[in-house]
Amino acid sequence: MKVIWGNEIVDRNKVTIDFEDRGYQFGDGVYEVISFYNRTYFCMEEHIDRFFSSAKKIEMRMPLSKSELKELITDLLNESEATDGYIYIQMTRGNASPRDHSYPSQDVVPLLTGSIAAAERDTDKLKKGIKTTLEEDIRWLRCDIKMISLLGNIMLKHEAHKKNADEAILHRGNIVTECSSSNVAMVKDGAIYTHPDGNLILPGITKIVWKACAEQLNIPVYERPFTTEELLEADEVFCSSTTKEVMPVNQIDDKVFELPESGSLIRLLQSCYEKKVVEQCGD
Ligand code: PLP
Repeated sequence: MKVIWGNEIVDRNKVTIDFEDRGYQFGDGVYEVISFYNRTYFCMEEHIDRFFSSAKKIEMRMPLSKSELKELITDLLNESEATDGYIYIQMTRGNASPRDHSYPSQDVVPLLTGSIAAAERDTDKLKKGIKTTLEEDIRWLRCDIKMISLLGNIMLKHEAHKKNADEAILHRGNIVTECSSSNVAMVKDGAIYTHPDGNLILPGITKIVWKACAEQLNIPVYERPFTTEELLEADEVFCSSTTKEVMPVNQIDDKVFELPESGSLIRLLQSCYEKKVVEQCGD
């Protein structure tokens, strides 16, 4: 299997990463997950922009340009045989020994790695929806950075898994923020509500896509905080992410939501999303 390591594509078994790498020592790094359909990346520009923006937020210098990165990830996709799937890329602040919390000098070179995984769209879940639980958002206050230290998210998803659910919907006090690995939105009386971007959530790329769909379909979108009580009273609820796309929620704790019908807002967003995939990636 070929992977990205530094600025090269190499066999995975050639990769050696020093244990003083700050990604390993401190979780000091940022990442992106970009989906591809029909061997073409979806929303590549937006993901690369967010990757660079996450790096800037932690004052990490990028050792390559956006166009060099695009070329590298395109080359890696060409090496793979997968039709649909994801690329995972991450940049750590590099190998700086001795171990020290402070940012190292600028001549420590950040380390890029990347790998491709084949994956089919989960059409069954996209139809039937997923079960979720409500969990207190115990993460830090810079959730806008797509960083590799995911312990908070992992612990929260584990809580959901212990209750046989797929995803945790998070709240700070009674304000719903996002999910452990996706954004969340609710539909009420023909409008969509979702938490505004800022330090409490990741600015999702899939959210950009479904918001564009909502605009095309003349569905009002309100980016304002809403409460867990409002969420449980919603007509429909969905999560969104690169891997989940527009994913209906069929249960939150004990509250069961009816399967969205064919003309429901979730179904309209899902078919618009699929059209956008076809526009960018072909069918
Ligand atoms: N929020 C969190 C915490 C995530 O981990 C993700 C994706 O992994 C998202 C939101 C959705 O982001 P995107 O739509 O860019 O995949």
